[in-house]
Amino acid sequence: MGSFMTTLTVPEKLKLIYEGKAKRLYETNQVDKVLIEFKDDLTAFNGKKHDVIASKGILNAAISAKLFTILEKNGIATHFIEQVDERTILAKRLKMIPLEVVCRNIAYGSLIKRVPLFKPGQKLNRPIIEFFLKNDELGDPFLSEEHIISLEIVREDELNEIKRITRRVNDVLKDFLARVGITLVDFKLEYGWDLNGDLILGDELTGDTMRLWDSKTGRILDKDLYRKGEPLSEVLKAYKECYRRIVLEEVP
Ligand code: 5GP
Repeated sequence: MGSFMTTLTVPEKLKLIYEGKAKRLYETNQVDKVLIEFKDDLTAFNGKKHDVIASKGILNAAISAKLFTILEKNGIATHFIEQVDERTILAKRLKMIPLEVVCRNIAYGSLIKRVPLFKPGQKLNRPIIEFFLKNDELGDPFLSEEHIISLEIVREDELNEIKRITRRVNDVLKDFLARVGITLVDFKLEYGWDLNGDLILGDELTGDTMRLWDSKTGRILDKDLYRKGEPLSEVLKAYKECYRRIVLEEVP
């Protein structure tokens, strides 16, 4: 992978502040910035299934950097500042909101189990946004908007703003991905507050957090291959294909 042109002095990496299933977050000598390292670990079913795929973190760091850059160009505020090495991005430090915001264009996954009126693969008339509590111990339970407001996770106006930005993210990503032959089935976003109190899109945008299907063949190009028990070599092949299309913009 090529060298990384940094437009600013990269802050010094200090102590590890958080280690998730797929990323490590480091504090830096600038209070408002963190370094996020993408690991090669792949997990499913709330961490019950776990493997390591060499270079997956490198592919995902680049895919995430590219998609955040596209969102920024379209006026969406994200935590992404720049990619500093092959598996690390520099980002704004956020106080994360404990919500998983899921947006769906096609019915699949947990939606079918929760609402069996939807059929797998059914195109939705309009995107559906759903919320889940980000809490592994409780198994990320579904939350209605009323639940979120009652629990004071965010206020109603803030929730409306989260929905507005999520629809915009969906429009921008769906259009870009369609150009490289990928159907955006659904995805999960996480938001946080920056030091100024502004609402900012955080986390990652990769095949770990999005369902991506080849537009022509319907072939799965994301973590569902792993969830379905496909060999790790097939999972790696799909992630490489996403890298080729999204980062290098090679249209199949
Ligand atoms: P579902 O609710 O159907 O399981 O997932 C909907 C979308 O959100 C999928 O693209 C899935 O990858 C993403 N998603 C939902 N929950 C999680 C989660 O806890 N971790 C990750 N990485 N992605 C999730």
